[in-house]
Amino acid sequence: MRHQWGGELILGWDHWMDLPSQIGDQIAAHVVGAGPGEVIVSDSTTVNLYKLVHAALGHRPGHVVASTDDFPTDRYIVSAVAEAHGRRVVWIDPHPVDGVQPADVAAVVEGAALVLLSHVQYRSGALADLAAITTVAHDAGALVLWDCSHSGGSVPIGLRAHDVDLAVGCTYKYLNSGPGSPAWLYVAEGLQADMRHPVQGWMGAADVFAMGPAYEQDLGVRSFLTGSLPVLALTAVAGGVSLTAEAGIETIRSVSMDLTDYFIALVDEHLTPLGFELGTPRDRHRRGGHVSIRHPHAQALDRNLRARKVIGDFRFPDSLRLGLAPLTTSFEDCWRAVAAIAEETRRLA
Ligand SMILES: *Cc1c(COP(=O)(O)O)cnc(C)c1O
Repeated sequence: MRHQWGGELILGWDHWMDLPSQIGDQIAAHVVGAGPGEVIVSDSTTVNLYKLVHAALGHRPGHVVASTDDFPTDRYIVSAVAEAHGRRVVWIDPHPVDGVQPADVAAVVEGAALVLLSHVQYRSGALADLAAITTVAHDAGALVLWDCSHSGGSVPIGLRAHDVDLAVGCTYKYLNSGPGSPAWLYVAEGLQADMRHPVQGWMGAADVFAMGPAYEQDLGVRSFLTGSLPVLALTAVAGGVSLTAEAGIETIRSVSMDLTDYFIALVDEHLTPLGFELGTPRDRHRRGGHVSIRHPHAQALDRNLRARKVIGDFRFPDSLRLGLAPLTTSFEDCWRAVAAIAEETRRLA
């Protein structure tokens, strides 16, 4: 603020203009496993989903496959964009704990244009088999769009290794960039020149300062930029991403699996006798970084726990979701949280 905006004023744009690509390349290299020039940071996850679903439906004919258990914004956006294109959405209804399976997709994907799914389910924490589902979609001629909001920064993703077409994710969960920080989006290099989206802003033009009479699209991932960049918020994303890069995503994943194993062992020992059920897969390779536990009084418990600074989320109808962020959550934090949950549950009984 003081040195760049205060001292350089608009001259700062000379170097700020490249922040979406520079930070995108860091996310590509250290967080999601993509190549340089395949990721940019821009807008919100919601707006990025809107742009990418539009682009995918403009790219090929057919219906859309999506999931009834997906995060609301994903379901709402896909419904609206499919309707605008005159396409059907075929909904998968996955197992509430284990999440979407390759066979669920295989059953409805023939003739589809696009499969949109979340890599880690926001309620149960189930980790989808991204590699197998991507192959199932490709075998049927469909594109895949993975929402990695709950896996970016917590689970290695391997977008390029698994030949993923499109992906989005937020930066304010495991990437620690602060509330409302801009999201990232990924478009596989081979698709970029053929993708069109409807938010044709000047920042997505091939030559931003040519200011010509008509829109000429950038042929790279920058075409998915829209308007002026939120420079301060982008700076926060750079900080969050560099922490992740410094720790290493493989190390983060390994600590995350140990933390969730430990948390689940504590749940079995101290909370199951009080009427809790685990709402997250037990197999550490089939879950992401958060754990959900179910109890009929989950909503009241969540409120009372927040007053004690044990801060989770209540998720309708009976889930208490705890996000064990490996960069900031310790094993002792897990122990203290479970002790507090047990105490508060006894008090309610
Ligand atoms: C957190 C989250 C979002 C958030 O979307 P915003 O536009 O950033 O509010 C979207 N999808 C999923 C799956 C999420 O977990």
